[in-house]
Amino acid sequence: MAKKKQQTSFTYGPVPSRRLGMSLGVDIVPPKICTLDCVYCQLGRTTKSSVTREDFVDIVAVLAEIKGKLDAGLKADYITLGGSGEPTLNSRVGDLIDGIHKLTDIPVAVLTNGTLFYRQDVRSECAKADMVAPSLDAGDKATFEVVNRPNRDITIEKLVSGLEQFRKEYTGQIWLEVFLIAGVNTDAEQVRLMKNLIERIRPDKVHLNTAVRPPAEPNVRAVPREVLDRIAQQIGGVCEVIGEAPAGLSERHETRAEADVVSVLKRRPCTIEDICTGLGITRHEAAKHVGHLQAAGIVHSEQRGEVTYFHIRLDAP
Ligand code: SF4
Repeated sequence: MAKKKQQTSFTYGPVPSRRLGMSLGVDIVPPKICTLDCVYCQLGRTTKSSVTREDFVDIVAVLAEIKGKLDAGLKADYITLGGSGEPTLNSRVGDLIDGIHKLTDIPVAVLTNGTLFYRQDVRSECAKADMVAPSLDAGDKATFEVVNRPNRDITIEKLVSGLEQFRKEYTGQIWLEVFLIAGVNTDAEQVRLMKNLIERIRPDKVHLNTAVRPPAEPNVRAVPREVLDRIAQQIGGVCEVIGEAPAGLSERHETRAEADVVSVLKRRPCTIEDICTGLGITRHEAAKHVGHLQAAGIVHSEQRGEVTYFHIRLDAP
């Protein structure tokens, strides 16, 4: 039987998201269980490759935590199911979305790699969400295997035909993300193949992304903006390059962002990279917030070998 995740906090944020505005993240899969092991993953390497859906977390506790945030005046553009792996591996996704809809009108998004949409149960549970954001990073089997390093039960054809079927059944928004890596999936033939697959999936939007944050593998290189723009034109239609979060957004939410750093550090000691990953912020932003919190005597650092960890001070003011 699956062992339920013991944690005290399932939510993070709201944090500014380049695609979703202000998003309250809900973490429903333990680190790091996934059907893929993408070379660009900001969470590092997949520690458990799996296609088995499990009841990982206590959804009553998750809903209670979301309700607590709503009661405290939560303002967010989306409540986003994601986590430290693939959220559709959580077998209670549908119940969770129903539960959130009973609590609030804030739309629910699912950030997914889309690999389990060949399953009817995953499609019908995710169809309860207001927006589903799956990924497609390759035009053929060989590139899919290089970029996404799938579980042996997952193929690119299963991914695309699952999403194609979902499009036929789902009337909500599908925003497809394409993650581009310089020299890997950016040549004209690869883009042509991806375009064919995107035409089968028929998403409402296509967002081109690249390695703006530290990836799992250090040799993953970002694609220059002009190449992203050219590929967006090649794909055409609803395709756009994802911009950075508007400059004023982070500033306006600075105090809130520091509170988010505190909430992440209350869960466990973290490196700057862990904070970036947990909150979806840049290294520069994380270092700035941690610096303020250290100056205020709320956070202290500890060196272990070559790695610096940050903790909440037990005697913090
Ligand atoms: S990027 Fe997403 S799909 Fe890929 S390994 Fe990381 S969590 Fe899994």
